[in-house]
Order: sequence, then C-alpha cells, then structure tokens
Amino acid sequence: MNSQSVNTQPAVGFIGLGIMGKPMAKNLIKAGYHLNVYNRTASKADELVALGAVPHASPAALASKSDVIIVMVSDSGDVEQVVLGPSGVIEGVQRGAVVIITSTISPSTVRNVAAKLAQKDVEVLDAPVSGGEEGAKNATLSIMVGGKRGIFDRCLPILRAVGTNVVHMGEVGMGEMAKLCNQIMASLNLLAMCEGLTLAAKAGLDLEKLLEALQGGAARSWALVNQAPKVLKGDFRPGFTIKLQQKDLRLALGAAEELHVPLLGCSLVHELYKAVEAEPGGELFGNHALIRAIEKLAGCEVRVP
Ligand code: NAP
Repeated sequence: MNSQSVNTQPAVGFIGLGIMGKPMAKNLIKAGYHLNVYNRTASKADELVALGAVPHASPAALASKSDVIIVMVSDSGDVEQVVLGPSGVIEGVQRGAVVIITSTISPSTVRNVAAKLAQKDVEVLDAPVSGGEEGAKNATLSIMVGGKRGIFDRCLPILRAVGTNVVHMGEVGMGEMAKLCNQIMASLNLLAMCEGLTLAAKAGLDLEKLLEALQGGAARSWALVNQAPKVLKGDFRPGFTIKLQQKDLRLALGAAEELHVPLLGCSLVHELYKAVEAEPGGELFGNHALIRAIEKLAGCEVRVP
C-alpha cells in the first residue's frame, strides 16, 4: 500500500482527463480516494487539483505514488505511449500495483501491455466503459472487465465508484472484446434512430411527439433517449467524437476480420461516417452527427425550429 494511502484505501492514479476521464476522476475523489492525476495538457487537471487531487509531471511520477493506476487516454498507441513509452507508467510503477485500462483499445494491445508489466510484477485489468459522458458524470457507467478474477475482486470498489454495472468477462483482453461488441450494437441503434427520424421529418410528423411516443416501445435505445433530442436541436457538440467512434468501428471490423465474422451493418455505418468526416471539423462532431450523412442522402434536415 502506498504511503499516501488513506486508511486502507489504495492511492489511485488517473491518466487522461478528457470528456470521460475528468468526471470519472471526480467521482473517485467523491468516493474518498486519494487521487494522483496526470494529463498531457496540464491545465485540464486544474479543476481536479482544486478538489484535492495531486498533479504529477509524468505517468512515471504518478505511478511511483499510486497503488492502482487508471488509464483513460484515446487509442491503442496512446495507451502504449503513456504506459510503456519514455517517462511512462512502467518507469515508475511499484511491484504489486494494478494498471486498469479503461480506454477502448484493441484486445491485442491490452495483452501486450499486460505481458510487459507482468515482468515488473504488475497486474492489468482491461475495463472499458459504456454509458457516455452522462454515465461518467453520474457514475452509472457499464464496465466490462478482463483480467484475473482475484485482481477484479480487489479493484471492484474502485470500479463501483465510477460505474453501476460492473461485469467480469474473463481473461485479460476480454473486456475490450465485449466493448467492441457493445460498439457494434450501439452504432447500429444510432443508425436506426437516424433513419427513423429522417423518414419522420420528410413525412411531416411532429418529431418531438414521435420521440415521446417511441421512448416507451420496442424502438427505445440509448441513442433514442440521449441523442435524438440533440439531433432535433442541431446540437452536434461531442459527448463521443466521430473520430473515436471510427476508431472503435475499425477495431470491431479488425476483430471480425480475424475471426471471419461478416459485419454488414457495422461496415455501412463506418462508411457513412466518412461523409461526415469530410465536412470541415466533421471528425470532432459528436457521433450523433451520423444524421448529417442520412440527411444528405434524403435531401432534408431533421430539426425542430
Ligand atoms: P477525449 O475527451 O478526447 O480525451 C482523451 C484524453 O486522452 C485527453 O486527456 C488527452 O490528453 C489524453 N491523451 C490522448 N492521447 C494521449 C497521449 N498520446 N499521451 C497522453 N495523453 C493522451 O476522449 P474521451 O471521450 O474521454 O475518450 C477516452 C477513451 O474512452 C477513448 O478510448 C474512448 O473510445 C473511450 N470512451 C469514450 C466515451 C465517450 O462517450 N466519450 C464513452 C465510452 C468510452 P489531452 O488533454 O492532452 O489531449
């Protein structure tokens, strides 16, 4: 246990204070953990430091003071950089520590990182999350976890401080595999919502009444509840950027290629997003801007004035 630990609670380090990481880190402070933080753009840590978090100049420095280190950066290469790269976690981490990767990245990268850290007697859990910015803020994320059962049990209180539905999926890498399946389902629900709204707009239906009517029925989905209202307002600020969505679809298509599974709908959504990415600033829109591709095809706009 690190010297900075409060009572029996482990000292937690958090790397990557973006849309998801910052609210998750806040919830760990709320739950009473001593929190060490690192963010590449240091100013993004200010709000957490004001709440009591301790800032560090590098992932290595943070790791040297933490029993459990959570990594919430963007992509596979970014996780490799902050964990295995120069001044990375591996340079400061203590024997017996646990690294929890909550980013959505490739299962093979997770296994590679775990193998390297095992040489330092450090365990890894992959614990990607679902539930969006809202879930991160409200500590209601769904978390799918790969890694040894005993390590999962040890880290469960930390995971429960940021999420409500925490499920052990199997060995290291299986959390990421579960998350890729989640992304296939979520992106196709989003397409379904966009197509339904587009037909409704062309037919002259009252779009707000339509949302009200559908939310209690079989078409209810996370996309319908959380994203359709933003579409109607034309609010395309990101909770989850198209850039990250495309990364996930690429990861899902790559896994399916290896396992010889045809993903017809997933491929279609991936291609449709390219039409939105081609717009100026398009890759930084929220993923619900998928509607813009469908609108172009249909020659109409789905908005409530
Ligand atoms: P984000 O807002 O773009 O934040 C990314 C964070 O990672 C920032 O703190 C960024 O630092 C840091 N980062 C990226 N590359 C780095 C590198 N090479 N070295 C050091 N730091 C680096 O992204 P997000 O939406 O929070 O997503 C984070 C992860 O969660 C992704 O894997 C995403 O797929 C997953 N996820 C997102 C959502 C969602 O709804 N947003 C939901 C579930 C899962 P800077 O501040 O310096 O840029």
